[in-house]
Amino acid sequence: MANPSLLILPGDGIGPEVMEQVKRVIAWFGDNRGMQFDVSEDLVGGAAYDAHGTPLHDDTMAKALEVDAVLLGAVGGPKYDDLDFSVKPERGLLRLRKEMDLFSNLRPAQCFDALADFSSLKKDVVAGLDIMIVRELTSGVYFGEPRGIFEEGNERVGINTQRYTESEIDRVARSAFELARRRNNKVCSMEKANVMESGILWREVVQKVHDEDYPDVELSHMYADNGAMQLVRAPKQFDVILTDNLFGDILSDCAAMLTGSLGMLPSASLGAPAANGRPKALYEPVHGSAPDITGQGKANPIACVLSFAMALRYSFDQGAEATRLENAIEAVLAGGARTADLMGAEGGRPISTTEMGDAILAALDESL
Ligand code: NAD
Repeated sequence: MANPSLLILPGDGIGPEVMEQVKRVIAWFGDNRGMQFDVSEDLVGGAAYDAHGTPLHDDTMAKALEVDAVLLGAVGGPKYDDLDFSVKPERGLLRLRKEMDLFSNLRPAQCFDALADFSSLKKDVVAGLDIMIVRELTSGVYFGEPRGIFEEGNERVGINTQRYTESEIDRVARSAFELARRRNNKVCSMEKANVMESGILWREVVQKVHDEDYPDVELSHMYADNGAMQLVRAPKQFDVILTDNLFGDILSDCAAMLTGSLGMLPSASLGAPAANGRPKALYEPVHGSAPDITGQGKANPIACVLSFAMALRYSFDQGAEATRLENAIEAVLAGGARTADLMGAEGGRPISTTEMGDAILAALDESL
């Protein structure tokens, strides 16, 4: 059987710096766990614009559609701020998401014990937290028509339309139930069925998908405003949260902050399963290209390394190896290693991006 394939797109700013550490981790799994990937690398964002005059070359797009998973660093930076909208670095990322039809956005909020003090919430509320938000990414109010600013009488009116078809809800619901089966088997679906028809349909379709094909998964429904309160009050009650594009945007950022630093947050965007059963998939850290620290060896590579752990689990069915990598990171943090973004009030010397990579590899060695 062919090796699983991975396209690496380091991108701009700290993207290449953090991706360097991920490449070392990928090599470690090849050397020590017999996991060989066919890895190719290409340009995206400003780097692709500099080379080709476009933030994503057609050949790169074609490669992304062929491989089992894409791993992206970050795109953008002040150098590209004045470019025309059509060739801005972010357009490269948006094109990938659109043409790969990545409708299911997975944002974990996982609190490593050693960083529990970083949260703005009390330590006992967040210690051990491990939840996953599944956000519908390609429809809803950010895309619905009509939209625009129109004249109405003697004033203007701004309009956006929340629109969901049954099939759009169905497919993202399936992705949440599948995910729950690999975790703690619980889904909480959030909408506002009390005031929105799209919410009523959302609730009906999610319930139907559950009853027909996932009766083994525990399903609950919650109004999204209550969901926001519960996330801050008692986040550990959740396993998988399923929600639409707009509510997911807000709830996932809220959940992310439960865990502390932007340098720690991975994400995945999944599409429909291909012929080999693997979903189209793009893995990337939540953070951007961090121009303020680019080239200084200060970037925390953990978000990008954890994105690779998600790829191991969700694209390559290597949950145990993903856990090995997450445990290695937990051990590194428990041992006190901190990049600058993780320095708390206790002070100490921050370690560099490469030193954090060294520490993760050493902890992986320990795990054997
Ligand atoms: P950012 O995430 O790049 O940085 C915000 C702050 O967090 C900065 O102080 C930065 O130094 C810090 N930070 C981010 N990642 C870090 C890491 N791994 N380790 C240590 N510190 C880290 O957001 P921004 O400053 O708003 O945007 C900068 C550029 O990135 C812009 O061009 C923006 O458009 C782009 N951006 C890209 C993506 C993406 O590629 N997905 C996401 C967000 C922003």
